[in-house]
Amino acid sequence: MGVGTDVHPFSSEPRPLWVAGLEWPGEGHGLAGHSDGDVAAHAACDALLSACGLGDLGAVFGTSDPRWSGASGVDLLREVARRVDDAGWTIGNVAIQIIGNRPKIGKRRAEAEKTLTEALFGAPVTVSATTTDGLGLTGRGEGLAAIANALVLPPA
Ligand code: MG
Repeated sequence: MGVGTDVHPFSSEPRPLWVAGLEWPGEGHGLAGHSDGDVAAHAACDALLSACGLGDLGAVFGTSDPRWSGASGVDLLREVARRVDDAGWTIGNVAIQIIGNRPKIGKRRAEAEKTLTEALFGAPVTVSATTTDGLGLTGRGEGLAAIANALVLPPA
């Protein structure tokens, strides 16, 4: 089992919003960050790396590494899946919970799950969401957070 969390602020500049592997046009400013700011994909990456003892996003991709500047969350997730596979682990499933006011995930849940599942070469990813009743940075609409759990099976 592994756990991952991520938080990004909404950008003060107009920027595409990417969450759970999807672009969300018409949902306001996107998330600020070194990459696309996709908290759901980033949390899933960290959960998988944690489960397999492969470090974390910062160690694997490094925010100073220009190769990953502007990388999409789905690209990172695919690369993590490759590393997990190289290390001999098999992904059971990944469950992601997104915390924040927008975008409303439910209407595109199936699309998000399909996109993230494909990034993991078919290992099932589920996406749920919640709000915090106006409390904290997510409740005030300042940013978006995500928590992910990954179940992996050890090398035979
Ligand atoms: Mg991140």
